[in-house]
Amino acid sequence: MPAVFIGHGTPFNALQNNRFTQAWAEFGSRIPKPKAILAVSAHWYIGATAATAMPKPPTVHDFYGFPAEMYQIAYPAPGAPELVPALQDLIAPVWLEPDKGQWGLDHGTWSVLVHMFPEADVPVVQLSIDGRQPAAYHLELGKRLAPLRDQGVLVMGSGNIVHNLRLMNRSLVGEGPEWASRFDAMVQDYVFNGEDRALVDYERQPDCDLAIPTPDHYLPLLYTVGVRQNDDTCEVIVDGLDLGCVSMTSYQFH
Ligand code: ZN
Repeated sequence: MPAVFIGHGTPFNALQNNRFTQAWAEFGSRIPKPKAILAVSAHWYIGATAATAMPKPPTVHDFYGFPAEMYQIAYPAPGAPELVPALQDLIAPVWLEPDKGQWGLDHGTWSVLVHMFPEADVPVVQLSIDGRQPAAYHLELGKRLAPLRDQGVLVMGSGNIVHNLRLMNRSLVGEGPEWASRFDAMVQDYVFNGEDRALVDYERQPDCDLAIPTPDHYLPLLYTVGVRQNDDTCEVIVDGLDLGCVSMTSYQFH
């Protein structure tokens, strides 16, 4: 099974048909149907490593002040509680907290999956990001999760490699400041060349303060990079900036 990192951008992508959402849909239609999806979303950034363990994970509308239609979106994919003990075995001795009622599928997951798997018939488990942990921890967890790919599980990191909400400009599409494109291109070089160490040491990279003011949207990339195998081919699914300071660059390994 391939592994994928999606730059998800604004929640409005759930309702839109644009070159990003088309690329997500096309990816979903050309890969073998997964047995399950393990989604690592930037928006479940908490003080623990947890996984949704409900048979029917709720659609979480984790944003404020959006139009009513955004709160009516449902992504009724089943959960896969039976996958959670397997995840625990893979990442032990790290403790995996089974979530039976706190969270669900947030927009980092469903705004993408409504396009990638519109039938909502592939079971989805969301994995949280433990915000207390250093970047190396997230890469390491990804490595331990790699065997899932052989079991037909699609590992999907969902964030944005450049994500600066403070400098975001809603009128900008496909353009942005030079530093944003430069940072995105640098990360792309690291991803293509398998320079995991540089990806973990992102805080030492030029422009990091602007590109990654907070790590929540960057860290999902490390899970996707972590499950990569040596003989994988790396491919850009779609790239470019949205809203000036949000990189939509998405990768697959296959
Ligand atoms: Zn987001």
